[in-house]
Amino acid sequence: MDIGFIGLGKMGFPMARRLIEAGHHLIVFDTRKEVVEQLAARGAEAGTSPRDVADRAETVMASLPSLQASLEVATGAGGVIEGKRVKRFVDLSTVGSQMAVRIHDLLAKRNIVQIDSPVSGGVAGAEKGTLAVMVSGPRGEFETVKRALEVIGKVFFIGEKPGAGQTMKLANNFLSATAMVATSEAVVMGVKSGLDPKVMIDVINAGSGMNTASRDKFPRSVLPRSFDFGFATGLMVKDVRLALEEMKSLGLSMEVAEAVGRLWEVVIRDEGAESDFTAAIKPVEKAAGVVVGGKAGGIAAK
Ligand code: NAD
Repeated sequence: MDIGFIGLGKMGFPMARRLIEAGHHLIVFDTRKEVVEQLAARGAEAGTSPRDVADRAETVMASLPSLQASLEVATGAGGVIEGKRVKRFVDLSTVGSQMAVRIHDLLAKRNIVQIDSPVSGGVAGAEKGTLAVMVSGPRGEFETVKRALEVIGKVFFIGEKPGAGQTMKLANNFLSATAMVATSEAVVMGVKSGLDPKVMIDVINAGSGMNTASRDKFPRSVLPRSFDFGFATGLMVKDVRLALEEMKSLGLSMEVAEAVGRLWEVVIRDEGAESDFTAAIKPVEKAAGVVVGGKAGGIAAK
């Protein structure tokens, strides 16, 4: 099918590439020209603006880094909302349910259907087509885009309520954020007392403490101290803040989420929004006076 694709970053680029390889005809746009050119070299058509993309495709997908970017691309001047051909806007970004509903309502005035479709599984999942894809929107519209979404991962229909996919995604990412900081504290505790962090991670992964941070993030990006997992701290903090807002708007007070939120605010303050989110261990190490992993094999080092 003809698919417009806006936002060709760490996630968007491999998702768009997979759609091209699966035989879809893509019209792509990003504010960074070089990535548009790279996909044009692989057979995509280069778009010149969100509106231009929406002039040329009934289905427009987007993978954008902030709530503001999704709002502007979808509903701003020169945005998807002004496109002549577009019928549905599939937002693969994480924007939270309130923003998803806002975009849904604005697009509905122009008879454009918003399909919420946040994803989980990281850059590796986007490369391999193994993401979890959490879709909400009208059932019939979901059926129209289902086969294309299956190219990027395992597709789950969450419900018809606008924003439902976002609520699902925030629950997932709250757990991912918690795993990262909780595992950092557990490993720093061990290293401070003289344990080998590599052995710790092997034991945790063979035991009941195993989680996505111990399984994927520590072996690949923390123990080698490469801090290159591919998800920015700024994006993780965006998701944690959105999860807290979502809980508050539902009248809930969440003890763990509040504590996790405070820790991530320290990470973004100390390491910066552009750092990789696996750098979350650094403030914990600093406070404890140890370094985990690295060339020394990762035994406690001052
Ligand atoms: P990214 O910053 O790597 O990519 C965003 C892309 O959007 C960039 O190429 C940027 O140039 C482009 N862009 C920004 N503003 C634009 C605009 N106005 N018009 C057109 N293009 C614009 O971000 P990412 O890591 O690919 O994340 C994208 C979304 O996916 C975010 O909502 C994020 O929370 C979510 N997500 C990311 C991961 C991950 O592991 N990186 C995993 C799951 C979900």
